[in-house]
Amino acid sequence: MSTDERPGAASDAPDGGPAVRRLDDWDRDTLDALADEHGTPLYVFDPARVRENCRRLGAAFPDAEIQYAAKAHTARETLRTVHDEGLAIECASAGEVRRALDAGVPGRDVTYTAVNPPARDLDAVVEAWRNEPDLTITAGAADTVDRLAERGFDGRLRLRVNPGVGAGHHEKVVTGGHPKFGVGLDRAPELAARIDREFAFAGIHAHAGSGISGDDLENHRELVRRLGELARDLEADGIPVETVDVGGGFGVPYREDAPALDLATVADATREALGAIEGRLAIEPGRYVVADAGVLLTRVNTVKDAPSTVVAGVDAGMTTLLRPAMYDAYHAVRDLGAEGGENRDTVGVTVAGPVCETADLLCENRPLPAPERGDLLAIGNAGAYGYEMASTYNSRPRPAEVTVDGETLRRRETLADVSRLDAARDSNRRNDEEDT
Ligand SMILES: *Cc1c(COP(=O)(O)O)cnc(C)c1O
Repeated sequence: MSTDERPGAASDAPDGGPAVRRLDDWDRDTLDALADEHGTPLYVFDPARVRENCRRLGAAFPDAEIQYAAKAHTARETLRTVHDEGLAIECASAGEVRRALDAGVPGRDVTYTAVNPPARDLDAVVEAWRNEPDLTITAGAADTVDRLAERGFDGRLRLRVNPGVGAGHHEKVVTGGHPKFGVGLDRAPELAARIDREFAFAGIHAHAGSGISGDDLENHRELVRRLGELARDLEADGIPVETVDVGGGFGVPYREDAPALDLATVADATREALGAIEGRLAIEPGRYVVADAGVLLTRVNTVKDAPSTVVAGVDAGMTTLLRPAMYDAYHAVRDLGAEGGENRDTVGVTVAGPVCETADLLCENRPLPAPERGDLLAIGNAGAYGYEMASTYNSRPRPAEVTVDGETLRRRETLADVSRLDAARDSNRRNDEEDT
Protein backbone atom coordinates (compact mmCIF):
# COMPACT_ATOMS: atom_id res chain seq x y z
CA MET A 1 0.00 0.00 0.00
CA SER A 2 1.46 3.34 -0.92
CA THR A 3 2.02 6.13 1.56
CA ASP A 4 -0.47 8.28 -0.33
CA GLU A 5 -3.29 5.96 0.58
CA ARG A 6 -2.63 6.46 4.26
CA PRO A 7 -4.47 9.54 5.50
CA GLY A 8 -2.61 9.48 8.82
CA ALA A 9 0.74 9.61 7.07
CA ALA A 10 0.18 13.13 5.81
CA SER A 11 2.88 15.00 7.67
CA ASP A 12 1.01 18.32 7.71
CA ALA A 13 -1.88 17.32 9.96
CA PRO A 14 -1.35 13.92 11.47
CA ASP A 15 -4.00 14.48 14.17
CA GLY A 16 -2.34 11.80 16.23
CA GLY A 17 -3.47 13.17 19.57
CA PRO A 18 -1.30 12.95 22.67
CA ALA A 19 1.54 10.42 22.84
CA VAL A 20 -0.30 8.45 25.49
CA ARG A 21 -3.74 8.26 27.04
CA ARG A 22 -3.51 7.61 30.76
CA LEU A 23 -6.13 5.88 32.88
CA ASP A 24 -6.89 9.23 34.54
CA ASP A 25 -7.80 10.71 31.18
CA TRP A 26 -10.92 8.53 30.87
CA ASP A 27 -14.14 10.32 31.85
CA ARG A 28 -15.50 8.92 35.10
CA ASP A 29 -19.18 9.61 34.40
CA THR A 30 -19.02 7.90 31.01
CA LEU A 31 -17.41 4.79 32.48
CA ASP A 32 -19.90 4.78 35.37
CA ALA A 33 -22.86 4.98 33.02
CA LEU A 34 -21.50 2.19 30.79
CA ALA A 35 -21.02 -0.11 33.78
CA ASP A 36 -24.58 0.62 34.94
CA GLU A 37 -26.01 -0.10 31.53
CA HIS A 38 -23.94 -3.12 30.50
CA GLY A 39 -22.88 -4.65 33.80
CA THR A 40 -19.39 -5.74 34.83
CA PRO A 41 -16.82 -7.01 34.14
CA LEU A 42 -16.84 -4.83 31.04
CA TYR A 43 -14.19 -3.87 28.54
CA VAL A 44 -14.62 -0.32 27.22
CA PHE A 45 -12.87 0.50 23.96
CA ASP A 46 -12.38 3.75 22.05
CA PRO A 47 -11.88 3.37 18.28
CA ALA A 48 -11.10 7.11 18.03
CA ARG A 49 -7.98 6.54 20.10
CA VAL A 50 -7.00 3.68 17.79
CA ARG A 51 -7.12 6.14 14.91
CA GLU A 52 -4.84 8.54 16.75
CA ASN A 53 -2.34 5.77 17.48
CA CYS A 54 -2.35 4.73 13.82
CA ARG A 55 -1.74 8.32 12.74
CA ARG A 56 1.21 8.82 15.09
CA LEU A 57 2.76 5.61 13.76
CA GLY A 58 2.14 6.77 10.20
CA ALA A 59 3.76 10.13 10.92
CA ALA A 60 6.83 8.51 12.50
CA PHE A 61 7.22 5.86 9.77
CA PRO A 62 5.94 7.66 6.67
CA ASP A 63 7.62 5.33 4.17
CA ALA A 64 7.05 2.03 5.94
CA GLU A 65 4.34 -0.50 5.42
CA ILE A 66 2.55 -0.69 8.76
CA GLN A 67 0.82 -3.94 9.56
CA TYR A 68 -1.38 -4.12 12.62
CA ALA A 69 -0.74 -7.33 14.59
CA ALA A 70 -4.37 -8.36 14.92
CA LYS A 71 -3.91 -10.66 17.89
CA ALA A 72 -3.76 -7.66 20.25
CA HIS A 73 -7.45 -6.85 19.61
CA THR A 74 -9.40 -8.65 16.92
CA ALA A 75 -12.84 -7.02 17.12
CA ARG A 76 -14.19 -6.46 13.62
CA GLU A 77 -14.56 -2.74 14.27
CA THR A 78 -10.87 -2.53 15.23
CA LEU A 79 -9.72 -4.32 12.08
CA ARG A 80 -11.90 -1.99 9.99
CA THR A 81 -10.66 1.09 11.83
CA VAL A 82 -6.96 0.31 11.44
CA HIS A 83 -7.42 -0.70 7.81
CA ASP A 84 -9.32 2.50 7.16
CA GLU A 85 -6.28 4.33 8.58
CA GLY A 86 -4.13 2.63 5.96
CA LEU A 87 -2.64 -0.22 7.99
CA ALA A 88 -2.44 -3.78 6.69
CA ILE A 89 -3.34 -6.70 8.97
CA GLU A 90 -0.84 -9.24 10.33
CA CYS A 91 -2.52 -12.47 11.39
CA ALA A 92 -1.25 -15.17 13.72
CA SER A 93 -3.72 -17.90 12.80
CA ALA A 94 -6.24 -19.02 10.22
CA GLY A 95 -8.90 -17.62 12.54
CA GLU A 96 -7.38 -14.16 12.36
CA VAL A 97 -7.10 -14.43 8.57
CA ARG A 98 -10.79 -15.26 8.52
CA ARG A 99 -11.55 -12.27 10.74
CA ALA A 100 -9.56 -9.90 8.54
CA LEU A 101 -11.23 -11.09 5.32
CA ASP A 102 -14.66 -11.05 7.01
CA ALA A 103 -13.98 -7.46 8.04
CA GLY A 104 -13.58 -6.63 4.36
CA VAL A 105 -9.79 -6.31 4.29
CA PRO A 106 -8.53 -7.36 0.82
CA GLY A 107 -5.99 -10.17 0.59
CA ARG A 108 -3.21 -7.82 -0.53
CA ASP A 109 -3.38 -6.21 2.92
CA VAL A 110 -3.37 -9.51 4.84
CA THR A 111 -0.29 -11.41 6.04
CA TYR A 112 -0.42 -14.74 7.81
CA THR A 113 2.57 -15.43 10.05
CA ALA A 114 2.81 -19.20 10.35
CA VAL A 115 4.45 -20.40 13.58
CA ASN A 116 4.48 -24.22 13.67
CA PRO A 117 1.22 -23.99 11.73
CA PRO A 118 -1.31 -26.74 12.38
CA ALA A 119 -2.45 -28.49 9.17
CA ARG A 120 -5.90 -27.05 9.66
CA ASP A 121 -4.51 -23.51 9.58
CA LEU A 122 -2.47 -24.15 6.43
CA ASP A 123 -5.47 -25.77 4.73
CA ALA A 124 -7.71 -22.83 5.58
CA VAL A 125 -5.21 -20.13 4.64
CA VAL A 126 -4.26 -21.76 1.33
CA GLU A 127 -7.97 -22.10 0.60
CA ALA A 128 -8.45 -18.39 1.36
CA TRP A 129 -5.45 -17.57 -0.86
CA ARG A 130 -7.16 -19.20 -3.87
CA ASN A 131 -9.76 -16.42 -3.68
CA GLU A 132 -7.31 -13.77 -2.50
CA PRO A 133 -4.10 -14.49 -4.44
CA ASP A 134 -2.32 -11.36 -3.15
CA LEU A 135 -2.34 -12.59 0.43
CA THR A 136 1.12 -13.03 1.98
CA ILE A 137 2.29 -15.94 4.11
CA THR A 138 5.35 -15.75 6.36
CA ALA A 139 7.13 -19.07 6.98
CA GLY A 140 9.67 -19.68 9.74
CA ALA A 141 10.89 -23.17 8.84
CA ALA A 142 11.83 -25.15 5.72
CA ASP A 143 9.16 -27.64 6.81
CA THR A 144 6.51 -24.96 6.54
CA VAL A 145 7.71 -24.09 3.04
CA ASP A 146 7.44 -27.79 2.06
CA ARG A 147 3.95 -28.07 3.51
CA LEU A 148 2.79 -24.99 1.63
CA ALA A 149 4.21 -26.39 -1.62
CA GLU A 150 2.43 -29.71 -0.99
CA ARG A 151 -0.84 -27.79 -0.82
CA GLY A 152 -0.23 -26.17 -4.18
CA PHE A 153 0.63 -22.76 -2.77
CA ASP A 154 2.99 -20.76 -4.95
CA GLY A 155 2.00 -17.24 -3.92
CA ARG A 156 3.61 -14.48 -1.88
CA LEU A 157 5.90 -16.01 0.71
CA ARG A 158 8.03 -14.14 3.25
CA LEU A 159 10.83 -15.76 5.21
CA ARG A 160 10.98 -15.38 8.98
CA VAL A 161 14.55 -15.40 10.17
CA ASN A 162 15.88 -15.85 13.66
CA PRO A 163 18.16 -12.86 14.12
CA GLY A 164 19.65 -14.24 17.35
CA VAL A 165 18.52 -11.22 19.39
CA GLY A 166 15.30 -10.68 21.27
CA ALA A 167 13.66 -8.09 23.44
CA GLY A 168 10.68 -7.75 25.67
CA HIS A 169 9.07 -6.71 28.93
CA HIS A 170 9.08 -10.30 30.25
CA GLU A 171 11.01 -13.44 29.31
CA LYS A 172 7.78 -15.03 28.08
CA VAL A 173 7.37 -12.47 25.32
CA VAL A 174 10.95 -12.49 24.02
CA THR A 175 10.81 -14.23 20.65
CA GLY A 176 13.72 -12.86 18.62
CA GLY A 177 16.44 -15.25 19.75
CA HIS A 178 14.30 -18.26 20.64
CA PRO A 179 14.83 -21.32 18.41
CA LYS A 180 11.04 -21.69 18.11
CA PHE A 181 10.88 -18.70 15.78
CA GLY A 182 12.40 -18.38 12.34
CA VAL A 183 15.35 -19.94 10.52
CA GLY A 184 18.89 -19.10 11.53
CA LEU A 185 20.62 -16.28 9.69
CA ASP A 186 23.17 -18.78 8.32
CA ARG A 187 20.47 -20.89 6.67
CA ALA A 188 18.34 -18.00 5.47
CA PRO A 189 20.07 -17.31 2.12
CA GLU A 190 19.60 -20.87 0.88
CA LEU A 191 15.93 -20.97 1.85
CA ALA A 192 15.32 -17.48 0.46
CA ALA A 193 16.81 -18.62 -2.86
CA ARG A 194 14.48 -21.60 -2.93
CA ILE A 195 11.45 -19.43 -2.11
CA ASP A 196 12.50 -17.04 -4.86
CA ARG A 197 12.58 -19.94 -7.34
CA GLU A 198 9.35 -21.68 -6.33
CA PHE A 199 7.15 -18.89 -4.92
CA ALA A 200 6.78 -15.13 -5.11
CA PHE A 201 9.48 -14.12 -2.62
CA ALA A 202 7.95 -11.36 -0.48
CA GLY A 203 10.94 -10.42 1.64
CA ILE A 204 12.27 -11.18 5.10
CA HIS A 205 10.81 -10.85 8.56
CA ALA A 206 11.81 -11.01 12.22
CA HIS A 207 10.12 -10.03 15.46
CA ALA A 208 12.23 -9.39 18.56
CA GLY A 209 9.44 -9.70 21.11
CA SER A 210 7.05 -7.36 22.81
CA GLY A 211 7.71 -4.26 24.84
CA ILE A 212 10.42 -2.27 23.06
CA SER A 213 11.23 0.60 25.38
CA GLY A 214 14.04 3.11 25.53
CA ASP A 215 16.09 0.47 27.36
CA ASP A 216 15.49 -2.21 24.78
CA LEU A 217 16.31 -0.04 21.81
CA GLU A 218 19.79 -1.55 21.51
CA ASN A 219 18.36 -5.02 20.89
CA HIS A 220 15.91 -3.62 18.37
CA ARG A 221 18.72 -1.80 16.61
CA GLU A 222 20.80 -4.98 16.45
CA LEU A 223 17.91 -7.00 15.03
CA VAL A 224 17.24 -4.40 12.36
CA ARG A 225 20.96 -4.16 11.53
CA ARG A 226 21.17 -7.93 10.95
CA LEU A 227 18.05 -7.89 8.78
CA GLY A 228 19.43 -5.02 6.71
CA GLU A 229 22.66 -6.94 6.18
CA LEU A 230 20.79 -10.08 5.13
CA ALA A 231 18.72 -8.05 2.67
CA ARG A 232 21.86 -6.62 1.09
CA ASP A 233 23.46 -10.10 0.93
CA LEU A 234 20.41 -11.51 -0.81
CA GLU A 235 20.30 -8.66 -3.29
CA ALA A 236 23.97 -9.18 -4.03
CA ASP A 237 23.02 -12.79 -4.87
CA GLY A 238 20.39 -11.51 -7.29
CA ILE A 239 17.39 -12.08 -5.02
CA PRO A 240 15.29 -8.92 -4.78
CA VAL A 241 13.98 -8.31 -1.27
CA GLU A 242 10.64 -6.56 -1.55
CA THR A 243 10.10 -6.00 2.17
CA VAL A 244 12.23 -6.00 5.29
CA ASP A 245 9.74 -6.56 8.09
CA VAL A 246 11.26 -5.81 11.49
CA GLY A 247 8.23 -6.90 13.54
CA GLY A 248 6.32 -5.22 16.33
CA GLY A 249 6.90 -4.85 20.03
CA PHE A 250 6.50 -1.08 20.39
CA GLY A 251 6.04 -0.59 24.12
CA VAL A 252 3.40 1.36 26.00
CA PRO A 253 3.77 2.88 29.49
CA TYR A 254 1.81 0.60 31.81
CA ARG A 255 2.97 2.53 34.88
CA GLU A 256 1.44 5.95 35.35
CA ASP A 257 4.87 7.56 35.76
CA ALA A 258 6.56 5.78 32.84
CA PRO A 259 7.26 8.00 29.84
CA ALA A 260 5.53 7.42 26.53
CA LEU A 261 7.59 5.66 23.89
CA ASP A 262 9.39 8.22 21.77
CA LEU A 263 8.29 6.99 18.35
CA ALA A 264 10.53 9.43 16.48
CA THR A 265 13.59 8.04 18.28
CA VAL A 266 12.57 4.46 17.51
CA ALA A 267 11.95 5.37 13.89
CA ASP A 268 15.33 7.12 13.56
CA ALA A 269 17.12 4.19 15.19
CA THR A 270 15.32 1.78 12.87
CA ARG A 271 16.19 3.67 9.70
CA GLU A 272 19.78 4.15 10.75
CA ALA A 273 20.27 0.50 11.71
CA LEU A 274 18.59 -0.73 8.55
CA GLY A 275 20.92 1.15 6.23
CA ALA A 276 20.29 1.42 2.50
CA ILE A 277 18.02 -1.30 1.14
CA GLU A 278 16.26 -1.70 -2.19
CA GLY A 279 13.00 -2.84 -0.68
CA ARG A 280 10.61 -1.33 1.79
CA LEU A 281 10.65 -1.31 5.57
CA ALA A 282 7.65 -2.89 7.31
CA ILE A 283 6.67 -2.82 10.98
CA GLU A 284 4.03 -4.82 12.85
CA PRO A 285 2.80 -3.01 15.94
CA GLY A 286 -0.05 -4.61 17.88
CA ARG A 287 -0.05 -3.40 21.47
CA TYR A 288 0.89 0.17 20.55
CA VAL A 289 -2.21 0.54 18.38
CA VAL A 290 -4.79 -0.59 20.91
CA ALA A 291 -3.44 -0.74 24.49
CA ASP A 292 -4.45 2.72 25.68
CA ALA A 293 -7.70 2.58 23.70
CA GLY A 294 -9.20 0.20 26.26
CA VAL A 295 -10.02 -0.04 29.96
CA LEU A 296 -11.53 -2.84 31.98
CA LEU A 297 -14.30 -2.05 34.47
CA THR A 298 -14.90 -4.33 37.42
CA ARG A 299 -16.97 -4.01 40.57
CA VAL A 300 -15.92 -4.65 44.15
CA ASN A 301 -18.06 -7.35 45.78
CA THR A 302 -16.03 -8.18 48.90
CA VAL A 303 -13.76 -6.11 51.14
CA LYS A 304 -11.56 -7.88 53.62
CA ASP A 305 -9.05 -6.40 56.04
CA ALA A 306 -6.22 -8.91 56.07
CA PRO A 307 -3.23 -8.27 58.34
CA SER A 308 -0.91 -7.26 55.50
CA THR A 309 -3.28 -5.72 52.95
CA VAL A 310 -6.89 -4.83 52.22
CA VAL A 311 -8.30 -7.36 49.79
CA ALA A 312 -10.83 -6.00 47.33
CA GLY A 313 -12.64 -8.95 45.77
CA VAL A 314 -13.90 -8.06 42.29
CA ASP A 315 -15.87 -9.70 39.48
CA ALA A 316 -12.93 -9.68 37.02
CA GLY A 317 -9.88 -11.87 37.35
CA MET A 318 -7.30 -13.85 35.44
CA THR A 319 -10.02 -15.20 33.15
CA THR A 320 -10.93 -11.60 32.22
CA LEU A 321 -7.44 -10.03 32.10
CA LEU A 322 -4.66 -12.61 32.11
CA ARG A 323 -1.61 -10.36 31.84
CA PRO A 324 -0.95 -9.83 35.58
CA ALA A 325 -1.12 -13.59 36.26
CA MET A 326 0.84 -14.61 33.18
CA TYR A 327 3.47 -11.88 32.89
CA ASP A 328 3.42 -10.28 36.34
CA ALA A 329 2.20 -7.30 34.35
CA TYR A 330 1.43 -3.99 36.02
CA HIS A 331 -1.87 -2.32 35.13
CA ALA A 332 -2.96 1.01 36.60
CA VAL A 333 -6.02 0.80 38.86
CA ARG A 334 -8.43 3.64 39.59
CA ASP A 335 -11.25 3.45 42.14
CA LEU A 336 -14.04 5.43 40.48
CA GLY A 337 -16.28 4.84 43.50
CA ALA A 338 -13.91 6.81 45.68
CA GLU A 339 -13.91 9.83 43.35
CA GLY A 340 -16.22 12.71 43.99
CA GLY A 341 -17.34 11.55 47.42
CA GLU A 342 -15.86 12.00 50.88
CA ASN A 343 -12.10 11.62 51.18
CA ARG A 344 -10.93 8.12 51.93
CA ASP A 345 -7.69 6.98 53.49
CA THR A 346 -5.06 5.55 51.21
CA VAL A 347 -4.33 1.91 52.04
CA GLY A 348 -2.48 -0.99 50.43
CA VAL A 349 -5.08 -2.75 48.28
CA THR A 350 -4.87 -6.18 46.68
CA VAL A 351 -7.44 -6.54 43.93
CA ALA A 352 -8.39 -10.20 43.68
CA GLY A 353 -10.60 -12.08 41.24
CA PRO A 354 -13.11 -14.88 41.82
CA VAL A 355 -10.88 -17.76 40.67
CA CYS A 356 -9.35 -20.13 43.22
CA GLU A 357 -5.75 -19.51 42.12
CA THR A 358 -3.16 -17.47 43.97
CA ALA A 359 -2.17 -15.85 40.67
CA ASP A 360 -5.69 -14.47 40.27
CA LEU A 361 -4.75 -10.92 41.33
CA LEU A 362 -4.99 -7.72 39.30
CA CYS A 363 -2.63 -5.88 41.65
CA GLU A 364 -0.97 -6.50 44.99
CA ASN A 365 -0.83 -4.11 47.92
CA ARG A 366 -1.23 -1.06 45.67
CA PRO A 367 -1.73 2.32 47.41
CA LEU A 368 -5.38 3.14 46.63
CA PRO A 369 -8.34 4.74 48.41
CA ALA A 370 -9.82 2.34 50.97
CA PRO A 371 -12.24 0.30 48.84
CA GLU A 372 -15.94 -0.16 49.62
CA ARG A 373 -18.29 -2.83 48.40
CA GLY A 374 -19.98 -1.63 45.20
CA ASP A 375 -17.04 0.54 44.08
CA LEU A 376 -16.34 0.51 40.35
CA LEU A 377 -12.66 -0.01 39.53
CA ALA A 378 -11.09 0.87 36.19
CA ILE A 379 -8.00 -1.02 35.00
CA GLY A 380 -5.84 0.85 32.50
CA ASN A 381 -4.16 -0.12 29.23
CA ALA A 382 -6.49 -3.08 28.84
CA GLY A 383 -7.06 -2.63 25.11
CA ALA A 384 -4.21 -4.94 24.06
CA TYR A 385 -4.17 -8.64 24.95
CA GLY A 386 -7.06 -8.03 27.35
CA TYR A 387 -10.26 -9.38 25.87
CA GLU A 388 -8.16 -11.49 23.50
CA MET A 389 -6.65 -13.56 26.29
CA ALA A 390 -9.92 -13.93 28.21
CA SER A 391 -10.87 -17.53 28.84
CA THR A 392 -13.78 -19.52 30.22
CA TYR A 393 -11.64 -21.24 32.87
CA ASN A 394 -13.79 -22.00 35.92
CA SER A 395 -16.74 -22.01 33.48
CA ARG A 396 -16.79 -18.26 33.79
CA PRO A 397 -18.51 -16.56 30.85
CA ARG A 398 -16.31 -14.06 29.02
CA PRO A 399 -17.08 -10.37 29.60
CA ALA A 400 -18.78 -7.98 27.22
CA GLU A 401 -16.88 -5.33 25.31
CA VAL A 402 -18.47 -2.02 24.28
CA THR A 403 -17.26 1.19 22.71
CA VAL A 404 -17.23 4.43 24.72
CA ASP A 405 -20.39 5.27 22.78
CA GLY A 406 -22.10 2.20 24.18
CA GLU A 407 -22.04 0.10 21.00
CA THR A 408 -21.51 -3.59 21.65
CA LEU A 409 -18.30 -4.95 20.14
CA ARG A 410 -18.66 -8.39 21.69
CA ARG A 411 -21.67 -9.45 23.66
CA ARG A 412 -21.35 -10.84 27.14
CA GLU A 413 -21.26 -14.64 27.26
CA THR A 414 -24.03 -16.25 29.26
CA LEU A 415 -24.18 -19.36 31.41
CA ALA A 416 -25.91 -21.03 28.46
CA ASP A 417 -22.82 -20.26 26.31
CA VAL A 418 -20.59 -21.98 28.84
CA SER A 419 -22.16 -25.39 28.25
CA ARG A 420 -23.06 -24.84 24.61
CA LEU A 421 -20.35 -27.12 23.25
CA ASP A 422 -21.31 -29.96 25.58
CA ALA A 423 -24.87 -29.61 24.42
CA ALA A 424 -23.70 -30.00 20.82
CA ARG A 425 -22.12 -33.29 21.75
CA ASP A 426 -25.40 -34.48 23.27
CA SER A 427 -27.29 -33.60 20.13
CA ASN A 428 -24.69 -35.46 18.02
CA ARG A 429 -25.25 -38.51 20.11
CA ARG A 430 -28.96 -38.18 19.60
CA ASN A 431 -28.36 -37.88 15.88
CA ASP A 432 -26.16 -40.98 15.89
CA GLU A 433 -28.86 -42.86 17.71
CA GLU A 434 -31.41 -41.75 15.18
CA ASP A 435 -29.12 -42.88 12.35
CA THR A 436 -28.72 -46.39 13.69
C1 LIG B 1 2.69 -10.48 18.56
C2 LIG B 1 3.40 -10.12 17.34
C3 LIG B 1 3.50 -8.78 16.95
C4 LIG B 1 2.98 -7.64 17.77
O1 LIG B 1 3.60 -7.49 19.00
P1 LIG B 1 3.23 -6.21 19.88
O2 LIG B 1 4.05 -6.33 21.10
O3 LIG B 1 1.77 -6.31 20.20
O4 LIG B 1 3.53 -5.02 19.08
C5 LIG B 1 4.10 -8.51 15.74
N1 LIG B 1 4.60 -9.49 14.96
C6 LIG B 1 4.53 -10.79 15.31
C7 LIG B 1 5.09 -11.82 14.41
C8 LIG B 1 3.93 -11.15 16.51
O5 LIG B 1 3.88 -12.43 16.86
